[in-house]
Amino acid sequence: MKKLISTNPANNYSVIGDVKVSSESEIKKKVALARKALKGWRGIGVEGRVKLLQKVYDALYRKRKEISTLACKEMGFPISQQEMFDLGDGFGYFEWYLKNAKKHLTPEITFENKSEIHRVYFEPVGVAAVIQPWNFPFCQWSWAVVPNLVVGNTVIFKHSEEVPLTGKLIEDIIASCKLPKGVFSEVYGDGKVGEILTDQDIDLIAFTGSCGAGQSIYKKSAKKFIKVLLELGGSAPGIVFEDVDVDSVVEHVYGVRFTNNGQACDGLKRLIVHEKKFDEVVDKLRRTLETKTIGNPLDSKTDFGPLVAKRQQDLIISQVKDAKSKGAKLVIGGKIPDKLKGAFYEPTILTNISTKMRVWKEEVFGPVLPVISFKTEDEAIRLANDTQYGLGSYVYTKDLKRADRVGSKIKAGMVSVNGTNYVCPFNPFGGYKKSGIGREHGKYGFSDLCQIKVVATSK
Ligand code: NAD
Repeated sequence: MKKLISTNPANNYSVIGDVKVSSESEIKKKVALARKALKGWRGIGVEGRVKLLQKVYDALYRKRKEISTLACKEMGFPISQQEMFDLGDGFGYFEWYLKNAKKHLTPEITFENKSEIHRVYFEPVGVAAVIQPWNFPFCQWSWAVVPNLVVGNTVIFKHSEEVPLTGKLIEDIIASCKLPKGVFSEVYGDGKVGEILTDQDIDLIAFTGSCGAGQSIYKKSAKKFIKVLLELGGSAPGIVFEDVDVDSVVEHVYGVRFTNNGQACDGLKRLIVHEKKFDEVVDKLRRTLETKTIGNPLDSKTDFGPLVAKRQQDLIISQVKDAKSKGAKLVIGGKIPDKLKGAFYEPTILTNISTKMRVWKEEVFGPVLPVISFKTEDEAIRLANDTQYGLGSYVYTKDLKRADRVGSKIKAGMVSVNGTNYVCPFNPFGGYKKSGIGREHGKYGFSDLCQIKVVATSK
């Protein structure tokens, strides 16, 4: 029996526990059960499903502290941030899906006169393989699984190999709610288990993770001719114009770059600052970072825990090394903190950036911020779009006409102007270019998980 061992990146990789890796035959059985469950799950209708899923919500909510502690131990999220941005958002979205399901899944009348009526129906697609990463361990489950179940799909879920125990805890809590057999189950393992799952008789893949894995899943879904939803990496630009109030921009940039140790897909990963404000922004960011505490993620005063794993620490070290070798200047950070044993890395600011550096061209999934200056609006837009990704983006200016103009030219799925949070359950979330295919959340998110059918009837 193969085991997946979970280790603590904040405590020198000490073992937390293990789960059994799912075998191919177990995965096949779960997929077969999910297929069998489809008819009944669809048959109880939206209201029936919402009622049962409310029980799941309540059961998870009762155990929220347990989920929170375990998730932070497994992947290093500072607990005060995790409670708000992972647990809080996970439950907030869950609630929204339940409250808004009926409104968005009720057949829509698109045309009606004396002799005809045209209706659009939102039907479940079928069996969904839902595969997720580790960086928001509860939210990722809620964002991807709940709307699938709400629309009437049945789900086989694979959580990341970095948070298998959080995945198992969620599965055990849901098992206590006695959903109809086969409606929701989990499989455990790394990318190979994900591959086995996506090779099965499924109708939809909802995948969040890296571009590489996303691309191989996209190819597989093309062969199978099934629906796919891909939420992939990002390297969001943040443009700071010369008319801003620097203190409020710095506060916001700190949040969107450094929350969760810089491990958010739509986090601000490249800061583009007007030359007149460049020194002030960099200096105030440095001073902000100097006040922060790195350490045990379970301590409520900790601002920075460890990265998720040693491989991620190694990757960040190599990206910063590359930047320095090409002339980047270290403003702060740039090393593993003394005395801490685990996947820690100091929050880092780099200037003297060239667009040839890996910190500019690749996604940097950790607490590192390259800052570059610009002179003209066109140059700022060109720099912002100089990326293979197109997920989030941030614009800071008091001139709202300019904000609209710039926002319309940025090739990204989401634009935040002056710090307004676009990550809300009623908004679509997803990216341009290599950041993905399709949208999660809101009415668009529901419809991406459905087959859309028109029935045009002569009266
Ligand atoms: P990853 O691609 O390594 O793994 C993600 C999940 O996919 C894991 O469960 C993994 O086991 C599985 N997997 C890996 N290869 C697979 C394959 N070939 N077939 C099937 N399953 C496979 O990504 P990660 O390192 O866990 O996550 C970090 C990445 O996720 C970052 O790039 C980040 O930007 C992205 N992300 C995107 C969003 C979004 O909504 N756009 C949200 C969170 C994270």
